[in-house]
Amino acid sequence: MIRSQQPIAKGQQPTAKKMKGIIYDIKRFAIHDGPGIRTTVFLKGCCCDCWWCHNPESRSGDIMTYEKDVTLDGHAITREETIGEAISEEKLLKEILSDEVFYTQSGGGVTFSGGEPVQQKDFLIRTLKACKAKGIHTTLDTTACFSKSTLEELEGLVDLFMVDLKFIDRDLHKKYIGVDNEGILDNLSILLNHQARVWVRIPVIPDINTGDIDNILSFLSEHIAPEQVNLLPYHKIGKHKYQKFGIAYRMDGVEEPTDDEMLVLKQKFEKQGYKTIIGG
Ligand code: SF4
Repeated sequence: MIRSQQPIAKGQQPTAKKMKGIIYDIKRFAIHDGPGIRTTVFLKGCCCDCWWCHNPESRSGDIMTYEKDVTLDGHAITREETIGEAISEEKLLKEILSDEVFYTQSGGGVTFSGGEPVQQKDFLIRTLKACKAKGIHTTLDTTACFSKSTLEELEGLVDLFMVDLKFIDRDLHKKYIGVDNEGILDNLSILLNHQARVWVRIPVIPDINTGDIDNILSFLSEHIAPEQVNLLPYHKIGKHKYQKFGIAYRMDGVEEPTDDEMLVLKQKFEKQGYKTIIGG
């Protein structure tokens, strides 16, 4: 059973610990979350409800506890585990700076991921400013599900935007992601047209969004090309978490795309002139 220590409405900023951020992981020496060697900070809270989310524990903005059954010395016991940690911007900056030498040598930096990191906008912006003041390269792994004024604030603080693009079809987006995609597509359009550094990340979910790929290509062709397209094959790695946290799993019957199917899609994007990576 999963419990929130501080119940919070979907899309709401954490309030009780306003001065701190709520993170659920920090990954050091990450090499798939932007250029070079990076530290990836995972912030809790998400505005989306993707059916295939492999980090369902990231969606709530709260610190949560859940009961875990373990066997200790032959005895079955239930232990309480916590997901999430409140952290000050100063402490987080110290963590980020501890690997500065690797960023310098590899062209890396810090990546803020989630959940949707912009759900904790005030904390994120303060930390981004602190990183920029120290000359750290910043990447934002984002759904782009926020207002235009927020995008304006972020543009001067983020060196690279890694933006999810899941559907063009509005009804499918609403069904599988739980929110409208109009603002998301507008934000991505603005970033591309401003020639911001953008990597577009497209999850490939057979029979769910593969029928929308031509629309995605058509959307991209109407804008200045992103620096890179990442095709992210759907995988079932996170399935066990749904059982662990007592959340309904909605992806039964959906298969992972084959390597051949991914290659065909990659070639399709490359044919349109996009630097295309499978995974990442
Ligand atoms: S945007 Fe990411 S974290 Fe949020 S629900 Fe979708 S897959 Fe999960």
